[in-house]
Amino acid sequence: MTQNWLGLDGKVAAVTGAGSGIGRAVAIALAEQGVSVVMLDRSLDSLTEAANAVSAVGPDPLLITCDVSDVASVENAASQAGAVDILVNCAGISRPGGIADVSVDDWNSVLDVNMNAYFFTSKAFGKGMLERGHGSLVHIASISGRNAQGNSGAYSVGKAGVLMLSQQLALEWSARGVRSNTVSPGLVRTPMTEAYYNVGDVAARRDKAVPIGRVARPEDIAQVVLFLASDRSGYVTGADIVTDGGFTTTLMSSVPRPGYDEK
Ligand code: NAP
Repeated sequence: MTQNWLGLDGKVAAVTGAGSGIGRAVAIALAEQGVSVVMLDRSLDSLTEAANAVSAVGPDPLLITCDVSDVASVENAASQAGAVDILVNCAGISRPGGIADVSVDDWNSVLDVNMNAYFFTSKAFGKGMLERGHGSLVHIASISGRNAQGNSGAYSVGKAGVLMLSQQLALEWSARGVRSNTVSPGLVRTPMTEAYYNVGDVAARRDKAVPIGRVARPEDIAQVVLFLASDRSGYVTGADIVTDGGFTTTLMSSVPRPGYDEK
């Protein structure tokens, strides 16, 4: 395998939510491959910190503060970015609340950032890709898009929407040279989820729940994004790569089955 097997050197990628967690790791991993990264997030402070890590391993990134849930802000960012080969949608939020109690504002906020924004960015950055006849869209979904995550407001609903948005984009745009795929992480330790890991033995229990033996690092997700961003996945579109260390294979383990217990 050659060093530049992915062939991403010289490409331009826009990454949303690039100031933190998975988006930050994606920006760094792309830069390591020689990609010029356009980093979008709503906070300039987090973008600046992440940009230092990106510059340390690859081309200096372009930083754009952008509220991805605001269509005008996204269109402005896309025009500032210029020609982009790859879009990675990572920005996301979570809000607690069961269906009986969640406020309409929290419900809508989650859908605005986690789903509607993915439509805004795909449309704004995809326009140039369609004109040039080449591009790759990679959206961070979640295993929660296929498995209802309780007491999390619209989180699962939004992720299910992203899975279908990506399939629809693939259906409509693949013949025009633009592929669309999702990555569905399982449990990942990031600033979004860090608070859970600091409670009692939650970190150890979460590691134990995953067949691979540990919760994911943001870099584990970024490596899968690289493949989908690159032409090495040129025949892959409308697909979802579940990247959960095997966690979603564990359903049958919760069923008591006397005589079949693990020795
Ligand atoms: P994170 O560390 O909180 O990063 C998300 C980034 O998106 C933050 O910098 C956040 O800014 C930014 N963002 C939020 N709303 C925005 C907006 N309106 N405009 C622009 N940027 C905005 O979270 P993460 O864990 O890396 O999550 C990345 C993606 O992976 C999300 O889509 C998440 O749903 C998904 N995911 C995460 C996990 C997990 O276990 N961590 C599992 C499955 C899927 P602020 O910090 O200012 O909010």
